[in-house]
Amino acid sequence: MNVWFYEDQTPDLRIGLRVGRVVHHERSPYQEILVADTDQWGRMLALDNVIQTNETTEFVYHEMMAHVALFAHPNPERVLVVGGGDGGVIREVVKHPTVRQAVLAEIDEKVIEAARRWLPSISSGLDDPRTRIDVGDGIDHVARSPDTYDVIIVDSTDPVGPAVGLFSEEFYRSAFRALRDGGLFVAQTESPFYNADLIRRVQQALRNVFPWSGMYWGVVPEYPGGFWAMSIGSRGGDPRRVPAGRYAERRFETFATRYYAPDVHAAAFVLPPFVLELLPDGAPQRREAYVERFLPGAGEEAGEEAGGSGEGEDSGGPGGPAR
Ligand code: SAM
Repeated sequence: MNVWFYEDQTPDLRIGLRVGRVVHHERSPYQEILVADTDQWGRMLALDNVIQTNETTEFVYHEMMAHVALFAHPNPERVLVVGGGDGGVIREVVKHPTVRQAVLAEIDEKVIEAARRWLPSISSGLDDPRTRIDVGDGIDHVARSPDTYDVIIVDSTDPVGPAVGLFSEEFYRSAFRALRDGGLFVAQTESPFYNADLIRRVQQALRNVFPWSGMYWGVVPEYPGGFWAMSIGSRGGDPRRVPAGRYAERRFETFATRYYAPDVHAAAFVLPPFVLELLPDGAPQRREAYVERFLPGAGEEAGEEAGGSGEGEDSGGPGGPAR
């Protein structure tokens, strides 16, 4: 069959996938939901004609959205995923034996239903006994959950429609309040190639709210540009550093990850100059890259500021300092 699905990744850039069978198509109150079989990536989910996930390459995004913050946190027990109705991030979250409750706050129950029925390898974590699903606006959920979560992960659609507020400083302040001491916040924040202004704004907003904020990345073939930014804020220590021993304690050997690994954790925080430029001047990663390296002497001051207060800061474990 020669039927093609096209996504306009920018107004001037389009990608196409050959589609075999359309297995599900509906219009929910929030968006157009399409599940289709493709030759390249197997089954895929698109919302409003934007590819969200697929069976073949989904592991990169879902692993990197979940494990960086969960391994950076000393004891993540309560985790919130905002959006994420396909269940892929929750599937990774519940791999951590410390997790007692994983809450999914997804606005569109039709996405959850479609993923459960048509994408079982991605949605499997939704049936874990520790998972609780709250259908509704994640912004409201976060606002009514003060001092509740150890990790909050925003797995949202692009900043249009109901997802717009998930990219605002007001929401980050609310998320800060919803975190317990030492908590971590992660959000998918689009492409450094095509969404530089958005990333700049998000990074500045996180910097205004969290004592430590920064960015890491992963290679996500299904998203525009392939090089995907994840923004992170910490109420505790520097998330680049994972103490030696934590991977063994959590039995990392049972996780069966295909992208995330202790050294990938550290490497993901190393940013090329064109991406570092998107971070505000005072952000630790940017200061270290430019100040410590090229202005010897000023480095001590930059290092102190980047250190944070968490237990991981002087451990130098497998995920040791990024640079
Ligand atoms: N990984 C995908 C990506 O980056 O393109 C996102 C996957 S997930 C399916 C995104 C979900 O966010 C959608 O199902 C959408 O309904 C949900 N969503 C958007 N805005 C939301 C909000 N304000 N509260 C809760 N869920 C929201």
